[in-house]
Amino acid sequence: MHTKVVKFGGSSLADASQFKKVADIIIADKARRYVVPSAPGKRYSDDTKVTDMLYNCYEIAAKGNDFEKEFTQIKERYNSIIADLGIELSLENEFGTIKSCFIGKAGRDYAASRGEYLNGIILAKYLGYNFVDAAEGIFFKEDGRFDAEKTNEILGQRLSVLENAVVPGFYGSMPNDTIKTFSRGGSDITGSIVASAVNAEIYENWTDVSGFLICDPRIVENPAPIKVITYRELRELSYMGATVLHEDAIFPVRKAGIPINIKNTNSPQDEGTMIVETADSTNSKYTITGIAGKKGFAVINLEKDMMNSEIGFGRKVLEVLEKKSISFEHMPSGIDTMSVIVNRNDLDANEDDLIAELKKSVKPDHIEIERNLALLAIVGRGMKSTRGTAGRIFSALAHNHVNVKMIDQGSSELNIIVGISESDFENATKAIYDIFVNQQI
Ligand code: ADP
Ligand code: ASP
Ligand code: MG
Repeated sequence: MHTKVVKFGGSSLADASQFKKVADIIIADKARRYVVPSAPGKRYSDDTKVTDMLYNCYEIAAKGNDFEKEFTQIKERYNSIIADLGIELSLENEFGTIKSCFIGKAGRDYAASRGEYLNGIILAKYLGYNFVDAAEGIFFKEDGRFDAEKTNEILGQRLSVLENAVVPGFYGSMPNDTIKTFSRGGSDITGSIVASAVNAEIYENWTDVSGFLICDPRIVENPAPIKVITYRELRELSYMGATVLHEDAIFPVRKAGIPINIKNTNSPQDEGTMIVETADSTNSKYTITGIAGKKGFAVINLEKDMMNSEIGFGRKVLEVLEKKSISFEHMPSGIDTMSVIVNRNDLDANEDDLIAELKKSVKPDHIEIERNLALLAIVGRGMKSTRGTAGRIFSALAHNHVNVKMIDQGSSELNIIVGISESDFENATKAIYDIFVNQQI
């Protein structure tokens, strides 16, 4: 029997009219047997996601304050979906249990997980599918890491005897039966886990854009979609902020050799993006596959005469960072200079201490911190075989008056990362998109 696993994101299940689109998509293909829903997302741009409403409500409850008003608003989101779908279902018992658990301080993760749990119950009822609570099929180990072995066995067995099922996204259970969630956006991971457990032929990830786009649609209007992307390219882009798919969602399916197809719930006829293990560059019109970036970095610049001959200098610098549990993103260096790029939040929490430790450990002539750095990654399997890619990137940036503060090319020649000022971020993205896509070179 053909088997597809389909995951629907929050905006795809934000209200009853979105639920109807989702049901049409599922009904259109018998192979779509296992469904992973997110919690209801935003219905309009300044709406609040149910997950955020739950975090907020629980915070109030955990302080021992009255959370009735916030809780009622959450109930109303679900009740309006049920009413508008016209289904015979009451969640009153569930709401009662959740409320008592909030009062009993069942935990922040438990609270957030109820978003997908309740949405899963509604979706299963609407589709006439079985409901399988993720707490009974997705497991974490004592140390909080995902337990792939146990999950594959138990979830695989449970689903193998069911014709169809809805498995809520985002959470699973700990060995002591408490609920734990993945990080934000984690329903993507659940979809991947379910796909691997049932050995699906494909994992379809349905969202509100027609696939992975070359760059963030909030920066460039209507960017072209990427038809085919490799897991490695995707990981580079999602790590750098293209958050269409959670960066950890690729591991379970990649191991099992299952491709992912990103599709648009609001435009199901669009091809979307196929994420595969390997692809050559001939199936892409452009030299680059995508552009993504993040703000919020800082550089620690170190200078010391004869640094080049001081063996162990780099190790000592990294040791100081390690002691403070700070990971570094990049480390470009010159003969007598070395820069370490770190997350600004990590730095802010430790700055004075860190500088003092560095001074003590490597005795630099000069040490300086530069904030407000953004990193931009230009990623593409086609870059390796195309001459002049870096040249084009830098001339596009120069033409647009963007000053490049750092350059790093990955050893696989799959990406070029540039460090720029945060205020240049949007401009730089547009300039690179323009040169590689609009001017098609
Ligand atoms: P879902 O709720 O379906 O999981 P997300 O909000 O997590 O959806 O991801 C889809 C959103 O990701 C899009 O609406 C878009 O605003 C944003 N996004 C950022 N970068 C990209 C990109 N390169 N391609 C497509 N979408 C992107
Ligand atoms: N609802 C969760 C979140 O908002 C998980 C998800 O949507 O994937 O992060
Ligand atoms: Mg998402």
